[in-house]
Amino acid sequence: MQDSTQPLPLPGRQDLLDQIRFDLEHGKIWLKEQRSLLLGLSAMGSFRKEIITTMGQERAKGFFMRLGYYSGLKDAELAHEVRPDMSLEEAFMTGPQMHCLRGMVKAIPICLEVDLEQQHFYAEFDWENSFEVEICQTILGLLEEPACWILLGYACSYSSHFLGMEIQFRELECRGKGDHRCHIVGKPAHEWDDHEEFRELFREAPLIDELYALQSQIAALEERLPVSPDSPTTIGSAPPFTSALKMIDKGSYSDMTMLLLGETGTGKEVLARRIHSMSPRRDQPFVAVNCAAIPPELIESELFGVQKGAFTGATQNRIGRFERAQNGTIFLDEVIELSPRAQAALLRVLQEGELERVGDTSTRNIDVRVVAATNESLEQAVTEGRFRADLFYRINAYTVIIPPLRERKDDIPLLADHFKKRYEARYKKTTMGFTSRALAALQAYDWPGNIRELENTIERGVILTESKHSISESDLFHANSPLDDANQQQLNQKNGCLESVKAGDLNEVDQLAQSALENNISLNELEAAILKAAMDKNDNNVSQAARSLGLTRPAMAYRLKNRVD
Ligand SMILES: [Zn+2]
Repeated sequence: MQDSTQPLPLPGRQDLLDQIRFDLEHGKIWLKEQRSLLLGLSAMGSFRKEIITTMGQERAKGFFMRLGYYSGLKDAELAHEVRPDMSLEEAFMTGPQMHCLRGMVKAIPICLEVDLEQQHFYAEFDWENSFEVEICQTILGLLEEPACWILLGYACSYSSHFLGMEIQFRELECRGKGDHRCHIVGKPAHEWDDHEEFRELFREAPLIDELYALQSQIAALEERLPVSPDSPTTIGSAPPFTSALKMIDKGSYSDMTMLLLGETGTGKEVLARRIHSMSPRRDQPFVAVNCAAIPPELIESELFGVQKGAFTGATQNRIGRFERAQNGTIFLDEVIELSPRAQAALLRVLQEGELERVGDTSTRNIDVRVVAATNESLEQAVTEGRFRADLFYRINAYTVIIPPLRERKDDIPLLADHFKKRYEARYKKTTMGFTSRALAALQAYDWPGNIRELENTIERGVILTESKHSISESDLFHANSPLDDANQQQLNQKNGCLESVKAGDLNEVDQLAQSALENNISLNELEAAILKAAMDKNDNNVSQAARSLGLTRPAMAYRLKNRVD
């Protein structure tokens, strides 16, 4: 036990100061990857006064405690990242030091006992120069109860998340109510008699995970449900997308053939499902076919069925996808890939409402609504003789252009958040969301693979991020920062040398790719060989090997682990 009058020593704070960057050119301040603000105290004071007036003191208190809660959480994460090698006690002091560095209070540690194995925690701090006390003194007037709400919320959240056990602090004395000092004591929640009542203050942002567990269950359940009109690709409010959506919704109720034009990965199948689910056929089957995934010689029998004996091997009758979709909707993705015979059969379905199975002479009536999609120009395919002109005019009657993701960048945060929730539920994990820099990088990137690529990127980010941590730029993009790329491009343009000096490297990579292809080396083998070479060269030091490949350590570890498994 420490002598309670003697403050404990604190580690040096340069490592924390180094995390602050002023980016004046872009109007941003960074605290590691968190964008931060310089906000005047008087603005904060007037704001607090208004909140207390509108909400009442008790609700306002919870409100401000949760405000502190969120920054405590971020700083707990920062502590683990910046001080992985310090003793637990020293690393814990990141919180009090960050409080000081944020200009909120000078936290003076009086006593700190931590024993994680015994689940023991006891801490006492004095707070000097609390900004909340100053607000009381200048704007609010003294309160009847302790007034350092944000600071207290921070202390509870920081300690709980740093230690992984629920810690509650109480401010036993406060200058905001006329005491001669602010003094706090922290203990594991259950050691306080009123811990449940106190926990209520964090109901919106629990110190423990119950609420989150529930949310995950709901998200997981939602994932199992059939696609609803609110599925990912229908999230968005960017104008080129909403106008496409409007057109889709208007057309859904009719029975018209629809054509969706858009790049790979723009979510055309989800939109086709939306069309189906909003149409009068919604209770009938929805069948999706990717025409490019079926060999041309099989496409006709796959779509229209086969009659026994039609060809060697056709030993029984098989119904095709069109008959499966009877009375419902069929979605033909990459419709441009249809063989000439299949094109003729499709035209017949559209014009006459009938089809013949391959090898059959009898005609069957078919009532299926067709939604087709392509990412290539059908018009050009017609000119080149690859696609029937009469079929083109038939399916081109109601065409909707789905914009690529790079033309609706404002929707990226929403979509990213949607996928984050989905994969958190799938991997039973709680992340703290994206860092500001990660979000900026998501918006700077060009997304040639569109929503599908975004989804894959977010999935990887969730996998690589530890629970209770924020998803950082490197979790999403490894070492290939889209922000750096964007800056580099600007730089190159300024210097009048748009062609990057990396061209030389690319040639080597191209050569490597060529020789891998020529020697039938699979991507897996290639990756395994590169990982092994990097490990060998760096004496099995994962961090160094990761650096040599331009990966983060977690990304490298993840890849290695997946190899071994
Ligand atoms: Zn106080």
